[in-house]
Amino acid sequence: MKIENPNPIQWHFAERAQKLQSSVIREILKITMRPEIISFAGGLPSPATFPVERMKAAFDTVLSNNGKVALQYGPTDGYLPLREWVANSLSIDGATISPEQVLMVSGSQQGLDLLGKVLIDEGSKVLVETPSYLGALQAFSVYGPEFVSIPTDDSGLLPEAVGSVGAGARLLYALPNFQNPTGRTLSLERRVALVDTCARLGLPLIEDDPYGSLSYNGAPLPKMLTMNPNGVIYMGSFSKVLTPGIRLGYVVAPQPLVRKLEQAKQATDLHTAQLTQMVVHEVIKDGFLAEHIPIIRALYADRCAAMLAALTEFFPAEVSWTKPEGGMFIWVTLPQHIDSMALLDEAIAQNVAFVPGAPFYANDPQHNTLRLSFVTVTPERIREGVAKLGKLIAAKL
Ligand code: PMP
Repeated sequence: MKIENPNPIQWHFAERAQKLQSSVIREILKITMRPEIISFAGGLPSPATFPVERMKAAFDTVLSNNGKVALQYGPTDGYLPLREWVANSLSIDGATISPEQVLMVSGSQQGLDLLGKVLIDEGSKVLVETPSYLGALQAFSVYGPEFVSIPTDDSGLLPEAVGSVGAGARLLYALPNFQNPTGRTLSLERRVALVDTCARLGLPLIEDDPYGSLSYNGAPLPKMLTMNPNGVIYMGSFSKVLTPGIRLGYVVAPQPLVRKLEQAKQATDLHTAQLTQMVVHEVIKDGFLAEHIPIIRALYADRCAAMLAALTEFFPAEVSWTKPEGGMFIWVTLPQHIDSMALLDEAIAQNVAFVPGAPFYANDPQHNTLRLSFVTVTPERIREGVAKLGKLIAAKL
């Protein structure tokens, strides 16, 4: 029976909920879904690389051979054969990672939230790069940390800047490979120095690495996890090497932490879908990624080269940008007086979009920066979009 004229609820949100904000990127994406827009805004992988047929066949195999298990509840830490696969793939360069250290999560974004939940108190010091991944800032913010921004340059964050502020911090969040948003890579020397500094301080070091295998040429640099498996928390994802729609990632952490994360995950969603974990295992177990990842790398390298060439051709000399060796992003620095948020309005009026840089800073936003993503746009449209942006910028000089 339906109640007549119920009073509207005056929502009293928890303090925590008041800290929740929509990501600026998601808001911009809503505007830029229109097909006429040349969008450098999304952080989406190229759908051209999604192995649809392969996934279809794997769903069929899993459901035919093991359907009753795939459709049942599963363990919180994840599907064991897949955890074994992850542990094996990271047992390199002399490190031994055990499956017990691996927690499968519903996208590595969930891993960030769980890490925030178990490591951050109100006012805890959390060290982040300048700039850093917006989604991590968003996830950690809910737990009320005091963000400390660590300076960076073209070779990534400066480990010597960690020493003075790292004591007593709860964690350092690092993105060593083809960073989101800048596309920069942390040099080998600095990896060693950072792992060493964090170990001396007893500071947990999070290595968020969704783009690590997307280097355009050459082998990726050694993972910090392998330098100190007892002090580094590694986060990986199938989003950029397979498909993001399956929402599957993993956290690798020392035993006491991984068990705590497991409890937090149990309270959140019991476990990540067993069906998708089994399907992904079916797809990758016989070496599929070794054939598939080079296809993604080649496509992204081509698009990156097209964008770098267009930037050189059309952007004024007063503008600078990063030159990524992998991944999906280029970071642009405009002359100090140009606000990229205002530039975005003008760009959208001309059917071009990007993400303004300010939201990627935990402190002291640099309003003259922006992020360009090139992987979902054809070289012709990249050239056209960059030419339009170049004109808009030149008019402001
Ligand atoms: N970390 C970084 C640096 C990212 O760029 C992303 C995706 N944009 C994530 C984590 C989250 O990835 P997912 O949840 O799809 O695994």
